[in-house]
Amino acid sequence: MRRIRGMSTTSLTPKPVIRHEEQVADFIARGELDVRMVSALAGDRTLNAREQDILEKLFAERGEGLYADMLYSLTHRAFPSRQAKHLWEEITLHRKSLKVKLNRDVGIAVAAHDYLANVAGLMHGVTIIEETKMATLANVATRDGLTSLYDQTSFKHKLKEEVERQVRYGGVLSLVMFDIDHFKSINDTYGHAEGDAVLRNVSDILRKQVRKIDTAARYGGEEFAVILPEVDDKAGFIFAERLRQKVQDSFEEAPYKITISLGVYTNPNGQAITAEEFIKRADALLYEAKRGGRNRVCPPQGK
Ligand code: GH3
Ligand code: MG
Ligand code: MG
Repeated sequence: MRRIRGMSTTSLTPKPVIRHEEQVADFIARGELDVRMVSALAGDRTLNAREQDILEKLFAERGEGLYADMLYSLTHRAFPSRQAKHLWEEITLHRKSLKVKLNRDVGIAVAAHDYLANVAGLMHGVTIIEETKMATLANVATRDGLTSLYDQTSFKHKLKEEVERQVRYGGVLSLVMFDIDHFKSINDTYGHAEGDAVLRNVSDILRKQVRKIDTAARYGGEEFAVILPEVDDKAGFIFAERLRQKVQDSFEEAPYKITISLGVYTNPNGQAITAEEFIKRADALLYEAKRGGRNRVCPPQGK
């Protein structure tokens, strides 16, 4: 494997990349490019084997966009790739000049802070926060309070990212949308607190069913959405049907029945589509499942 040491400002090959603030946020949230990693990339220390591996992937995926990623991880602000590349170079130079003046190295984070806030005037009222605390905040900001699943905003960002990835690189992508059947009657009969408990239970079942690369979200109220990358119509149906069965089974002992209706839309390889259209189609299939009698997956058998 090609070894990459601390990166110089000229070592990245420019390559157009699709970039969104949310994509980067998600990236950071997954812990793949934390401040320690950025420091290593800036040449503060040698990368270990795992970091080398991550960096290889970053290079392949991000190209020049990596500058924006690095600045995002330091500042939590998304700069356009080209500006980010320029700023990164300026920050590196600024760090060198600080080193000469102070006779010690302040590190990449302090150099970036001083340059962006005090030299370039691009950031104002900059504060200091520990990275773990920032990660906690980022988690709170992207998750639904009741179920800890991704909230609708994060889900939409993620879907957009996955759809763009599919359109660009090919492959299949499935989206499952499901809704709890006659949920209103649970609230009406057993109270809102019991309704909340049901929502949490269903969320826990869902969480156990998904893979690491899937995105499970609470779309709103008692409606959920699951992004399944690299899952075709047949596998999408199997996933949905298993989920339907698990939900039904796990409430067998309860004094009430809980079932869900699901719509699965699979976008075939090579077909251009928008995230909005994706949601619309999966939602239409969910509606069809409701109309067809609830507690079912539509289309049946992944047809
Ligand atoms: P259908 O099978 O057609 O989906 O019927 P339904 O009763 O599930 O659908 P409806 O849209 O009529 O009712 C949804 C209910 O979900 C109404 C609303 O009060 C309840 N709900 C939405 N969010 C929450 C929540 O966070 N907690 C609780 N307890 N109830 C919620
Ligand atoms: Mg419902
Ligand atoms: Mg509903």
